[in-house]
Order: sequence, then C-alpha cells, then structure tokens
Amino acid sequence: MTESNSDANLDLNADVIVIGGGPAGSAAATMLARKGWRVTVLEREQFPRDHVGESLLPASIPVLEELGALPAVESAGFLTKYGATMVWGSGDAPWSWYFKETSQRYPHSYQVWRPQFDQILLDNAKAHGVTVLEGHQVTEVIFDAGEAVGVAFTDRDGVTGEGQARFIIDASGQSTLLARHLKSKKWDPFFKNLAVYAYFTGAKPLPEPDQNNIFIESYRHGWLWSIPLHTGRTSVGVVVDTKTGQEGIQQNGPKAFLEAQLAQSAHTRVMLENAKMDSEPAVVMDWSYTAEKLYGPGYILAGDAACFVDPLFSSGVHLALMSGVLAAAYVTTALNTPSMADEAGQVYQELYLKEYNQFREMARLFYSSNLSAESYFWEARRIANTDEYSPRQSFIQAVAGQPPRGYERVVLDRGQAPERFIESVRTVESERLARTQWLTALAADTQRNQVLNAVPRLADGVQIQRKPVLAEGEFVPGHVLNTVSQPEGTPCSPLVAAVIAEIDGQKSVADIVDGMGQHLDQAGHAQLEEAVSRTIEILYVDGTVAGLVTD
Ligand SMILES: Cc1cc2nc3c(=O)[nH]c(=O)nc-3n(C[C@H](O)[C@H](O)[C@H](O)COP(=O)(O)OP(=O)(O)OC[C@H]3O[C@@H](n4cnc5c(N)ncnc54)[C@H](O)[C@@H]3O)c2cc1C
Repeated sequence: MTESNSDANLDLNADVIVIGGGPAGSAAATMLARKGWRVTVLEREQFPRDHVGESLLPASIPVLEELGALPAVESAGFLTKYGATMVWGSGDAPWSWYFKETSQRYPHSYQVWRPQFDQILLDNAKAHGVTVLEGHQVTEVIFDAGEAVGVAFTDRDGVTGEGQARFIIDASGQSTLLARHLKSKKWDPFFKNLAVYAYFTGAKPLPEPDQNNIFIESYRHGWLWSIPLHTGRTSVGVVVDTKTGQEGIQQNGPKAFLEAQLAQSAHTRVMLENAKMDSEPAVVMDWSYTAEKLYGPGYILAGDAACFVDPLFSSGVHLALMSGVLAAAYVTTALNTPSMADEAGQVYQELYLKEYNQFREMARLFYSSNLSAESYFWEARRIANTDEYSPRQSFIQAVAGQPPRGYERVVLDRGQAPERFIESVRTVESERLARTQWLTALAADTQRNQVLNAVPRLADGVQIQRKPVLAEGEFVPGHVLNTVSQPEGTPCSPLVAAVIAEIDGQKSVADIVDGMGQHLDQAGHAQLEEAVSRTIEILYVDGTVAGLVTD
C-alpha cells in the first residue's frame, strides 16, 4: 500500500484487502489468515462502533467456533437466547417457541451488544495475524482491464492512499460499495419496508422463562421488535411500510414517529411503560436487495454488501458470518487454482443465495400469514404473495437442509399460511412417513431379504454434476446432486454419486453392490453392502429414489 503520509502500520504486501470489519469482513479475514494469506482489513470506523442487529441465531454458533471466537463470545456476558416470543398469526396473545424444538445440538444463541460483539470478531481476526486499519474509508475499488487490483482510501486524518492486492473482498455492509459502483444492486419488490429503532433502559422483561427471548409483535402498521441486552438496555424498533414510514418521519421526526407506533401496540407499549429512550432513534431505509453477481475478476461480495433481507428472522449476522467463511474459501481457490475461479464463484453465489432465499421465503410466508392485525400493511402483503407461490417449492426451500432455526414449524402451527401451502407440507410429510414405514416393514420381512433385492428407480430430473464443493477452507472438485426441488444442487459424497450413477431402473441393490465391489474381499463387500443399502434407503425417503420395486 502507498499513502501520501508514512504510516508504520500499513501492510505493504497484502494478498487480500477486505473492505469493512463487520462480521462478514472479520470472518473472511480470519479464515484467509488461517490459510496463510496476508490480509488487510480497511475499516471506516473506529471500533467499537454502533450497529443494529443484536439477536443471533444458533446457526452462528458453529461458525463462531470455527473462527475461534466462541470462547470470547461465551464469556462476554451476553444474554443467552433460547427462542422468540411473538404476537403474530391468528390471535393477539403472545406465544413462544424455542430453538430446542428443532435442534438439540444448538438450542441457544445470544442477544449481543454489537459494538462489543463486532470488536470481539475483529480482535479475533487480528489475533490470527490480520492487519486491521481502522479509520480507513475505502473510496473506490481500482480496476485494471476489468479486474479488481486494489483500493483507494482516505484515512481519519483525511490523508488519501492506495493499496494493491491480489484479491478484494467487499464486506462494506449496507454501503454496498461495489454493487453500487457496478450498478448491480436489485431491490426486492416484496419487502418495501423501513425501520426506526432506539435503545431503552428500564423495560419490563417478558415473564420467565422467556425473559431473554426476542419479542416480536405485529400491530396495525407493521411489527415491532424488543431485544433485551446484558447492558441493561433493550433494543426496540419498528418495521413499517416505506411510504408510511417516510411520510410519518417527515411530518414529526423519527422520535415522535417511533413513539406513535409504540403507542399503538398492545404489548410492547406496556413493556416500555416505565422505560426511558436513551438514544436518538436511527432510521434504516435501505431494505431488501441482492447484487446481481456476487463475484467477478479479483473481487467477491460478502455479507450485507452482497444482499440483505428483512430482519424478521434475525438472519443478518448469520448470513454475514457464513458468507464470510465461504468467501474466504472462494478467494483461496481463486488464488491457488485460477482455472477453478469461475466455477467456484458460481457455487459461492448459489450457496449464499440458497441460504438467503430460505430466510426470504420464510419471511414472505410469515408476512402473508399474519391475521392478527387488519390494515393496509398486512392486506397488501397477503395479496402480493398469493400468485407467486409454488407451495411445494416454497416449503422445501424453507426447510431445506434442516438448519437449526425452528421457524419453519411455527408458521404452520401459528400462522394462517395459504391453504395450498399447508396442503403441500402435509403431502411432503405424509409421503416421507409412508416411505419410512414401508422400509421398516421391508426390513422386518426377512423372507424378502430387505432392501437388497429391490430395484431402485430415480425420480425424474435427478442428476449428478461435477462441481466445486467446500472442503477444508477451499473449494475442491466434487459431486453435486440435482433434483427437481433442489435444482441448484446439494453436495454429495463420492459414494452417493457412484450409487446414483449405477441406478438404471433394472439393476437390484445387490447387483449395484456387486458391480461396485468387484475387487473387494468378503469383509469389504459386506461393508459396501451395508453402506449402499443405507444410502438407497435415505434417497428413497427423501424422494430422490422414486421407487423401490420388490417382487
Ligand atoms: C433494522 C435492522 C435490524 C436488524 N436486526 C438484526 C438482528 O436482530 N439479528 C441479525 O443477525 N441481524 C440483524 N440485522 C442485520 C445485521 O445487522 C447485518 O446483516 C449484519 O451486520 C451484516 O454484517 P456485515 O459484516 O455484512 O456488515 P456490517 O456489520 O454493516 O459491517 C460493515 C462494515 O463495513 C464498514 N464500511 C462500510 N463502508 C466502508 C468503506 N467504504 N470503507 C471501509 N469500511 C467500510 C462499516 O463501518 C462496517 O463496520 C438487522 C438489520 C437491520 C437494518
């Protein structure tokens, strides 16, 4: 890097420059440093800096563990969050759900004070050898013949400089530095909302055992969140239609607007009766968007710099951390094996948008399923959703991969989901149950020698593709299983790929084992028989194998 003034801290030889030291930037930088790359983070602010987005998901716990930051997060004193309490769906009484309902492994998460949490992650990156330059605002990504080769920046003293690197990661959050420069930011037509939020002291907690839950209350003009924090403060915000919000804020200012919305809520108002707003309310206008392309020559977009979805499911930090880790894997691949860069970039984009779209679909479903409040806001969101839904597809998208979140069941139990959607859910679930029961009966029937004598037939559209898959912090050539409901593919093991390649609707499972295990001794053959039978049973239950014909 060069700068008009000398600065002893500058890393002159960065392989990778990361723009922004939020969760996405810190995660990407940490993983890259661990791979031995020289990484410099340029962060506009001086940490600790304010940031909204305090409520985390359990899905982030394993990522924090991978980053090596979990012990510091665990000992920071943040409140442990076990679930959510909501006024949403068909009635106006609060109801709660818990992460443990769908995940025994990760039954909790945290309500974090973001200045402290983000500082922990950035310090963790430093501890891994990352050079962090705070007070350095990137003003431009420098391109040479279409390839990102460096950045221009201004430091806190107004001194300008430039830095070159082999790769640039844009983790600039809602600044969306590159997407704006490349004019690739696409707004989501469904979520046209804005938020006004502030911090309160003295809020009444939810009754035990829900005192650490996030509280989400739908009301006439949108919904409100309350997130208790270990500092004694509570983060409170309202999400409303952009137009309504803008008009209200213009007329009376953010504080009066927020107070007016709180006054209309049945529960949040009561929780805040004796509380004091002790921060100026902030307004977030930039709502849901996706950059058209998340990677290109010499650059990649991670976290909110790539896409942002309505915060109803507190998904932002999880998506930022996950995409940071994936982006680091992509950069390592692109630097080590340039011939794989384009394909791996495509896979990065698919993986990130798949996760993003699961939250988007769930949020859409929630918005269109709320009958607890009647108003233009809710009516508009119900109508907007009616025709677009392919219910089966939405359900599968919402639950694909079974991440430890727990929201998916709630919408069915509490919401007023479209009838067609509920029907598809029932169909998918009863198909799975029938197939499991059929296998159990087959296993009990010793005469028929279980699944070995059955002839498997693949469902229409099932394909195995060679594609880069994630392994040990980089993308390596691997196999992906494509099905009609998961057209973007799911990485699968070489065994699954080999078994699927052998299924032709003619050969029995035993024939397939014989074909694959020609060179194995007896013990090896028995092991393979067990593995192939189990694989085919699993593929049968999830519908990849459409039929198992027995005589
Ligand atoms: C109203 C609202 C409520 C939310 N609630 C939640 C929630 O409860 N839970 C949750 O998980 N998520 C929530 N989110 C989302 C969450 O805050 C973000 O998704 C998350 O912070 C994204 O992390 P990031 O690292 O991509 O970006 P950020 O955390 O925004 O970090 C980006 C960093 O880049 C720096 N930067 C920006 N431009 C430049 C530049 N030009 N040069 C150098 N540095 C730059 C910024 O200073 C910042 O530190 C909420 C969002 C909103 C709007």
